[in-house]
Amino acid sequence: MDMVAFYTWGTRAIFASAGLALLILVLIDAPYGRHWREGWGPSITARLGWIIMELPSPIAFALVYATGDYAHTPLPLLFLVLYQAHYFNRTVIFPHLMKSGAEKRSSLVVIMIAVIFNTTNGALCGLGVSQFGDYDPSWFSDPRFGIGMILFVSGAAINIHSDSILRNLRKPGEADYKIPHGGLYRWISSPNYLGEIVEWLGFAIATWTTASFAFALFTAANLAPRAKSNQQWYHEHFPDYPADRRTLIPYIW
Ligand code: NDP
Repeated sequence: MDMVAFYTWGTRAIFASAGLALLILVLIDAPYGRHWREGWGPSITARLGWIIMELPSPIAFALVYATGDYAHTPLPLLFLVLYQAHYFNRTVIFPHLMKSGAEKRSSLVVIMIAVIFNTTNGALCGLGVSQFGDYDPSWFSDPRFGIGMILFVSGAAINIHSDSILRNLRKPGEADYKIPHGGLYRWISSPNYLGEIVEWLGFAIATWTTASFAFALFTAANLAPRAKSNQQWYHEHFPDYPADRRTLIPYIW
């Protein structure tokens, strides 16, 4: 398959999988973390699961990126660095620091689905910026680049800060759940997901490639139903859960 056909059909597949993921995830909670349950076949530790699941994405991105005609030009290189920085956090820092990573389980079925998705998506996003991005130096002053970068950086900051608030709820060795406070938890129950969605929306706007828009849409389709389930879960498990705390969008939902 040539590059154009791979890119065209691959991005269509990611758009389609966003719709499919939304349909499935409003019906079924992916079995990991607080929604983990038996009955999903073999499982491995959550920490190892995160590494296996996420590592294919930056690797596929970098390998396919290198084949693009514009791989050595400044803007694609910047996008390469941003993508790798996000995944360095997700594959090295996040699993290393998670408090319950050795005790909690993740389903191998879910992990394998994620590996297939992340490999394809990483390859498409890499090809998007190094081959199909079509940037000239004026892109640095294009509002789409500026707005996208602001969203990417602020989304990443919200995501990392919110994940660190969750992490600090537990003492070493603890695996139970508590009510998070501080940061955007004042307004919503899953600010780490909001940050992730804003981050990839920013990446899509800054890179302006079909592949990165498909990924941003998939991220929202994946995380919005989970945020809804988390909200319900908090209310079921904590009678004193703040009643005015929304799910994912402050004051709105
Ligand atoms: P969660 O918010 O469910 O959990 C994050 C970590 O915090 C886990 O280690 C969890 O422990 C712990 N935790 C969560 N809530 C509490 C609590 N109330 N008290 C104590 N500890 C808590 O996030 P996910 O695991 O779903 O996702 C982790 C990261 O990965 C997020 O930043 C998310 O945005 C990102 N992600 C991105 C996706 C994408 O499509 N781009 C898809 C999925 C995740 P435990 O494991 O024990 O539940």
